[in-house]
Amino acid sequence: MPDTSVITNSSRDTSADLVILGGGSGGYACALRAAQLGLTVVLVEKDKLGGTCLHRGCIPTKALLQAAEVADTARHSLQFGVKTALDGIDMAGVNKYKDGVVAKMFKGLQGLVSSRGIDYVEGTGRFVAPNAVDVDGQRYTGRHVVLATGSYARTLPGLEIGGRFITSDQALNLDYVPDRVVVLGGGVIGVEFASVWRSFGAEVTVVEALPRLVPAEDDFCSKQLERAFRRRGIMFKTAARVTGATQSESGVTVSLESGEQLEADLLLVAVGRGPNTAEAGYSEAGVRMERGFVLTDDRLHTNLAGVYALGDIVPGFQLAHRGFAQGIFLAEEIAGRKPSTIDEDGIPRVTYCEPQVASVGLTEAQARQRYGEVETITYDLAGNGKSVILQTRGAIKLVRATNGPVVGVHMVGDRVGELVGEAQLIVNWEAYPDDVAALVHAHPTQNEALGEAHLALAGKPLHAHG
Ligand code: NAD
Repeated sequence: MPDTSVITNSSRDTSADLVILGGGSGGYACALRAAQLGLTVVLVEKDKLGGTCLHRGCIPTKALLQAAEVADTARHSLQFGVKTALDGIDMAGVNKYKDGVVAKMFKGLQGLVSSRGIDYVEGTGRFVAPNAVDVDGQRYTGRHVVLATGSYARTLPGLEIGGRFITSDQALNLDYVPDRVVVLGGGVIGVEFASVWRSFGAEVTVVEALPRLVPAEDDFCSKQLERAFRRRGIMFKTAARVTGATQSESGVTVSLESGEQLEADLLLVAVGRGPNTAEAGYSEAGVRMERGFVLTDDRLHTNLAGVYALGDIVPGFQLAHRGFAQGIFLAEEIAGRKPSTIDEDGIPRVTYCEPQVASVGLTEAQARQRYGEVETITYDLAGNGKSVILQTRGAIKLVRATNGPVVGVHMVGDRVGELVGEAQLIVNWEAYPDDVAALVHAHPTQNEALGEAHLALAGKPLHAHG
């Protein structure tokens, strides 16, 4: 049997080519790629290798969403002519499945890090000098240091997390399905948990301060999602700000700016994630910061020579795959490979609620700002055979610079997250509608909808009305 445990080794020479502070998606990707390129690497992690994504974020949340999809499939099976009954949600069983997924990925990752000869150090690291990290009194020096300490779930001033006030950290480990939940924040985390709990049978109300759900997305996506949420019985209040909340033994009372009060069993606070930088010694060591974030140039260099930063502590999308990409970039940069910089506009985004929202590139509003005139087209999934088979609704919107390439793809519907792979190739390779229209898409797939949308944008719509 191969030994898959991570070797904690702090007794050897502690000087390395590279010291990485933080073993989340960005930190470990950087470590793996740097080791592959022949660099000696120290990877410092205070909690668990894999970080937020693996233990408190992407992976467990998507496992919950998968269980939610199974519940919905059982609930709505009769529309496919299959008789079944949803007897209930066994949260112990759901959590066992979810924890099993995480454990499997964790074990695999530990094995990878161990097999690449990375010096994995468990402990709380502090950046003490441009070439040094201190871990519980032991100093690790490196010719290069990468800061990758990630983010934490924020709350509002005066709203202390505890008891019935929870963030995604606690929401992931509930051992019961609440009857009623108020979700504070209609961003990514808010709508994903609203979706899970609704599928599990809860009464959910989302409160969002801005005028629409998923406000960072194209407003087409917000409209589509809001329509779908109404159909699902997920309540939401937009342009509604939460000003405070109280809790008792029996429930929570959430106060809105309008004076309205909402009662529920739980309040999920999903108002964004803050950078984990306050206690890592960055500003004391002279790293240039702004509002807690570490500032870098487009090659992820901080103002200190030999010191770099990546992931959620660097302003931009707080997404695991951005961190992975930045980690690989930095390993190659440090190894002198001169990699191309990452185009932040080309990073795909998927919100895994039901229906899913997936996008890449610019929203229509952003494209108008950048290019002036733009063309858009919306293709309804009602014209796509596979989507009708799945009984999903939704649409795809394309944005192009007039007479130019496609600069934005925005999709809403079941499983559209899986379409973002093709969408990101289109945007990142600066494809023209005619380029994509000429490609044959397999039938019947949902990918065909992307092909059809490009046919329409190229002026030759096939399965489209109007
Ligand atoms: P977010 O920034 O996406 O959404 C927070 C929302 O809370 C905003 O829309 C904001 O307007 C609203 N808000 C803030 N104060 C409010 C108030 N007083 N009353 C009402 N609404 C208020 O943040 P999030 O959803 O917490 O997610 C955090 C980060 O994690 C995001 O960057 C997100 O992209 C990332 N994430 C990504 C995924 C994914 O890719 N599927 C999943 C989960 C989280």
